[in-house]
Amino acid sequence: MAHHALGQDSEALAAASRSEQLARENGELVWQSRALAREGLVHHDLGNIEDAVDLLTRAVELRREADDVAGTADVLTTLGTVYTAMPHFAPQAAGVLTQAHRLWLQAGDPDRASIAHAHLARTFVETSARLAEENPRGARAAARRALALALEAVQDADAAGLSRTSIDARFTVATAHVLADDLPAAGLVLDTAADMLDRFPSAMQRLALHRIRAGWLMRSGRYADATREATAGLVLCDELRRPAERAGLLQVLVDAEEAQGNLAGALDALHELHDLTVRTGDAMAERRAALLGARMELDRAERVAESERRRSQELEEHNARLAHEAAHDPLTGLANRRALDRELARRLEDRRQFTVALVDVDHFKRVNDTWSHQTGDAVLQRIAHTMRAGLRTGDLAARYGGEEFALVLDGLAGPKAMEICERLRARVEALVWDGPMSDSRVTVSIGVSAWRPDETVDLTLARADAGLYEAKAGGRNQVRQSAGTAA
Ligand code: GH3
Ligand code: MG
Ligand code: MG
Repeated sequence: MAHHALGQDSEALAAASRSEQLARENGELVWQSRALAREGLVHHDLGNIEDAVDLLTRAVELRREADDVAGTADVLTTLGTVYTAMPHFAPQAAGVLTQAHRLWLQAGDPDRASIAHAHLARTFVETSARLAEENPRGARAAARRALALALEAVQDADAAGLSRTSIDARFTVATAHVLADDLPAAGLVLDTAADMLDRFPSAMQRLALHRIRAGWLMRSGRYADATREATAGLVLCDELRRPAERAGLLQVLVDAEEAQGNLAGALDALHELHDLTVRTGDAMAERRAALLGARMELDRAERVAESERRRSQELEEHNARLAHEAAHDPLTGLANRRALDRELARRLEDRRQFTVALVDVDHFKRVNDTWSHQTGDAVLQRIAHTMRAGLRTGDLAARYGGEEFALVLDGLAGPKAMEICERLRARVEALVWDGPMSDSRVTVSIGVSAWRPDETVDLTLARADAGLYEAKAGGRNQVRQSAGTAA
C-alpha cells in the first residue's frame, strides 16, 4: 500500500486525474490506465474501497483495450490485493488474481505469475478465516484450497528464485495448515520460513512471522509462548514505527493473557487494542475529511469563478447595449443626433474632406395621415435601410430628427457627392411598397454641402439646409447644392 502524507491525498488525486484527462484526450490508453490505477490506490489508502475498485477496474479494461498483456496482469494483481483486503470480496479477489496469474504466464513472466499465485492463495486463507465461525465446513474447504494454491506458489517462487515471495507463500501455507487444524505441519513450515528469513532478512516479514507464530502457539495451547511471541512482535512494531500492525498481535495477546488467567494483562491489551482501532479510524477519518474539505473548497472556488465570469460577461453585454443605445436611433437603427455630432467633431479635428447631405421625406405627413403612424414608421425604417445600404464604409447615415436624415460622405466634394446622393434619391423613388401603399411612391429631397476647411460644421449644415429648401421649392424629389456654393 502506498503511503501518502496527510494533506497530500488531494494533491495526489488531482495530479492523477489531470494526467488521466490528458491521456484520455490524447487517446493514450496505457498512460490513462496508469493514472486511473494511481487514483485507485490513493482511494484504497483512504479506505474508499468502492472508488478504488471502480478505478482499478477501469484501469484493467483500458490495458486490455491496449492489448497490453503484462500491464493488464499488473493492474489485475493490484485489484486483487485491494479485493483481498475486504473479506466479503474474496471470490472477486480470487477471480482477478487467477486471471493475473494466467496473463503473467502468457506474458512470459513466471516470477510475477508466482507472486499473483501467492496472493491468490492468501485470498482463500482470508475466506477460510472469515467462514470459520458460521460455516466450519466451508472454512475447511477454503483452507484446503488455500493450502493447495500456496504449496504451488511456494514451488513456483522457489523455481523462480524469489525468496521474498517464497517466504510469503510459506506463511500462507502455515496459516492454511492452522486453519485446517494441522498444527504440526504449520509448525514445520514456520520453522522453514524462519530459516529462510535468517538468510534473506526482511523486517516486515519478520513481523508477519511473529504474528502468525503467535496465533499458531495460541492454537497449540502454548499460551505463555504465544504471549512472548506477540510481545516480541509488538516491540518490533515500535522499532519499525508501524503502529497499525499492532492490532493483530494485540488480539493474540488478549486471548493468550486471558487463557493464562492474567485478566489484568488481557484488559490492558484490550484497552490498547480499542484505542488503536479508534486512533486508526480517526487518522483515516481525518484524511478523508481533509480530502473532502479540499474538494469542497475547489468546487466552491470554481463556482465562484464561474459566476464572476458570468457576471462580468453580463455586465459587459449590458454596457455594450447601453453604449449602442446611447448612439443609435431605436426606430431605424441609424446613428442618432448625438453620434452624428461626435462624428462631425472628429472629422473637423482630422481636417479630412467630407460632404454633408440632409435628406427629408417628401409630404411625409400625408403618409401618416393617409395610412397610419405605424405605416409611417415602417416607411422611415425602409428608407433608412435603403440609405445605409447605398453608402460606402466610412460614410455615415444618421437620423437627424423626425423624417429627416443626415449623411456624412467621407472624403468627397463636388460632382461625386452629388452623384451618390442622386443615386440614393432614385433608389428611394424606385422602392415598391406593399399593401395599401402599393400604388404609391415615396420620394426624398436632398440638400448637399461640402465642408470647407476652417469653417464650422454649423455653417456646412446651414448650406445643406439651404440646398434642401431649394430642392423642396424646386418641386421635391431632387438633389440640390445651395446657390453660391462653390464646392
Ligand atoms: P415636406 O415635403 O414639406 O417635407 O412635407 P412633410 O409632410 O414631410 O413635412 P412636415 O414637416 O409637415 O411633416 C413631417 C411629419 O413627419 C410630421 C410628423 O408627424 C412626422 N413624423 C416625424 N417623426 C415621425 C416618426 O418617427 N414616425 C412617424 N410615423 N411620423 C413622424
Ligand atoms: Mg421635415
Ligand atoms: Mg418632409
